[in-house]
Amino acid sequence: MQSETQRCGYVALIGRPNVGKSTLMNHLLQQKLAITSRKPQTTRHTLLGVDTQAQYQAIYVDTPGIHEPGDRQINRYMVREATAILKDVDIVVMLVEQDKWTAEDEMVASYLSNLRVPCLAAMNKVDQLADKSLLLPAMQRLGKLDLFTEIVPISALKGDGLANLRQEIFTRLPEHPHVFPPDQITDRPERYLIAEIIREKLMRRLGDEIPHRAAVVVEAFHQGDGGVDISADIYVERNGQKRIVIGKGGEKLKQIGEEARRDVEALLDQRVMLRLWVKVQSGWTNNPATLKRLGYD
Ligand code: GDP
Ligand code: MG
Repeated sequence: MQSETQRCGYVALIGRPNVGKSTLMNHLLQQKLAITSRKPQTTRHTLLGVDTQAQYQAIYVDTPGIHEPGDRQINRYMVREATAILKDVDIVVMLVEQDKWTAEDEMVASYLSNLRVPCLAAMNKVDQLADKSLLLPAMQRLGKLDLFTEIVPISALKGDGLANLRQEIFTRLPEHPHVFPPDQITDRPERYLIAEIIREKLMRRLGDEIPHRAAVVVEAFHQGDGGVDISADIYVERNGQKRIVIGKGGEKLKQIGEEARRDVEALLDQRVMLRLWVKVQSGWTNNPATLKRLGYD
């Protein structure tokens, strides 16, 4: 039974790398969908997260961070993906980091000036502000930019201010029937979410060099009586990287597999058997054909 008019729209979460976009999306959905890490550029594709409450449905779009593209194909792909969606959304939420405003924030803001849709600022990581009296002046500085309809202080990590942010978003959603059924929380298939979980463990377990050179593809997914049997390939660029991922006596890969398996079991809510294979595909981060085959098209 639907007594009130349904409101539904797409909400872009944008901001420079590492401001907490994926953390915010996970917390809003109360489910771990997007992978997060201390390393910039963890998120490679846009990912939809659906938040349905009563007559409201917000479809969050987690984007790769907007940054200076540099000269790698994959980086250019990520910036293109992040900026293209701004044209297709109903509300934009730009994340900034408490009282900081950097050159990268400036660049993100440059994409906002011509938008016709409401643009909210979420001032994230306020839990890191030791001196809370800095909050108000920081909000005032943001306000002076004349870009934002509303400025909401939040901590995506601790959950502070999120009810408030959600309210500001919900009330600005256009009148529109819901696009997704109420129990669906993402548009991505399970295989994709599983590959992302494995990639997150790689990023957390390995040094800075490898993760940006690695891609993960779930090759097989077999549902059995006692659980699911999953095989995934980890692509790296060089033999040396393969050795690092595998580790001494296979220790590293075992750890990564173990941690990933636990998260995948939580995601699928059943027992999981996870097999990981490391494969060398030289130059994949800079080769358009390979990028396409690995899902970056
Ligand atoms: P993204 O690149 O914008 O998607 O950023 P992530 O969501 O991956 O977060 C980057 C890092 O910031 C991670 O280590 C998060 O745990 C951390 N982080 C995100 N939100 C908060 C917050 O509200 N407070 C604190 N202290 N850390 C946060
Ligand atoms: Mg992210």
